[in-house]
Amino acid sequence: MMASDLRKSMERLGDMIAEASIIVPFTGAGISTECGIPDFRSPGGLWTRNRPIPYEEFVASQDARDESWRRRFAMEPTFAAARPGRGHRALASLYGAGKVPAVITQNIDNLHQKSGFAPDHVIELHGNTTFARCIGCGRIYDLAWARERFDQSGAPDCVGCGDPVKTATISFGQAMPEDAMDRATELAQACDLFIAIGSSLVVWPAAGFPMMAKNSGARLVIINREPTDQDDIADLVIRHDIGETLRPFVGN
Ligand code: NAD
Repeated sequence: MMASDLRKSMERLGDMIAEASIIVPFTGAGISTECGIPDFRSPGGLWTRNRPIPYEEFVASQDARDESWRRRFAMEPTFAAARPGRGHRALASLYGAGKVPAVITQNIDNLHQKSGFAPDHVIELHGNTTFARCIGCGRIYDLAWARERFDQSGAPDCVGCGDPVKTATISFGQAMPEDAMDRATELAQACDLFIAIGSSLVVWPAAGFPMMAKNSGARLVIINREPTDQDDIADLVIRHDIGETLRPFVGN
């Protein structure tokens, strides 16, 4: 973006935030890249290196489960070291000011919680990779337990029911979490400003929320380095770095 256009857009964003009473942010991997967690689709992103493992394959194959856990543990130093970035901190400030009731996120990295959102106010559409869950009975496990099992005998099974244990994330082909989908729907329909931040808006059904908010009467802002399919229905598109764009909203 040209510097003068960017300045105008940022002023407009400031006005829209000031005028709104219920702001719902919707975040994707782009808000966490400055925290050292790569996104999926940028050059050098995770998918240029690893094909995602669909849910069906995880359930059917011990090899797929081993590979899935191997990748997860390979990423652990990255996830463990990540701290909230300027985008997370700006949203946490707006949350603290009472302007943002909750954040809807496609991210699995727990950084909104770390930035100060109450866990109940982070609507995770794709789950959370910082703990694990049995795919059968739902029993929760911490990663240290999974690691110990993995080192002894490969991908772990539940000590209760024997079914495979998986990171608490939603894989391709896995059912979406109903409660999170319901709450995200309510928020998208209730807000007067919806801000999509750092999402390529190609993963459905999550990508339906910006459009839903717009159709329910909210203003729509999209902040993303690259164009998205929903740019033409947005009231404001800021094609710029997220940390730089949201830095003015970081509180003390
Ligand atoms: P994506 O990788 O498809 O898209 C990220 C978008 O952010 C890209 O369009 C990219 O251009 C933009 N971007 C990256 N860094 C930016 C920056 N600093 N400033 C402005 N724009 C920037 O991510 P997605 O749409 O969230 O979908 C991928 C899926 O992968 C998600 O559903 C999520 O579950 C998962 N994922 C999560 C994480 C995480 O938790 N941090 C990381 C990778 C993937």
